[in-house]
Amino acid sequence: MTVKIKYGIFSDIHSNLEAFCAVLDDMVAQKVTHPVCLGDIVGYNANPRECLRLARELNCPVIKGNHDEMVAETKDLQNFNDLAGAGVMWSKKRLSAEDKGWLARLPLSLRIGNFTVVHSSLDEPAKWNYITKPLEAESSFIYQNTQLCFCGHTHVARVFVKSRGVRELSRAPRLELQRGTRYLVDVGAVGQPRDRDWRASYVIYSPSENRIEYRRLAYDLPRAQEKIRQVGLPEQLAARIGAGI
Ligand code: ZN
Repeated sequence: MTVKIKYGIFSDIHSNLEAFCAVLDDMVAQKVTHPVCLGDIVGYNANPRECLRLARELNCPVIKGNHDEMVAETKDLQNFNDLAGAGVMWSKKRLSAEDKGWLARLPLSLRIGNFTVVHSSLDEPAKWNYITKPLEAESSFIYQNTQLCFCGHTHVARVFVKSRGVRELSRAPRLELQRGTRYLVDVGAVGQPRDRDWRASYVIYSPSENRIEYRRLAYDLPRAQEKIRQVGLPEQLAARIGAGI
């Protein structure tokens, strides 16, 4: 009997160990065979080293996010707001030179099986554009040569489709893929969702069933918040993971 391939695609862990562990446990329970990490492993929350170790132990495809880039490189933080900058500086101090080197070498996009992955958008991935509306998705679709592309970066779980025009699909936990339609699937964030749902988000893609499923997972939020306070990161970072903003 052959085991069916099931991809578990997750993004924006952002050093939230409790949220990441909930996703890792769920992937085991859901019999995910192929995890894929869309980047931003570090930043914002209290456990960059632990999250990076777990991500590396998966031995799976990983692409680079903007926080990974900032932590790995010696660039200044001018494009980061204070909250993001605080998390980046904290992560920088916690990671070894070897870890930073590993982050620095991550690719910006990859083709995996029949789909593409990118952290931000396929048009100029190094510019870290945000795809929040159909017009922005349209620019990415120009470079999308596969029916499916998975992205993260906005921390909002949503799907854009292109058949004749580009539109955003209304939210549903499951999606059956239709022929002749292309999909840009934002998998949402593991460690800091911003769609007013604090639970960790990721996506399971089953190629043999042509189906995508969004998973939302409760985790030990008070513990993650407490650690943010303990290490001296801004209180707002603890508040926002509770509010999902
Ligand atoms: Zn992010």
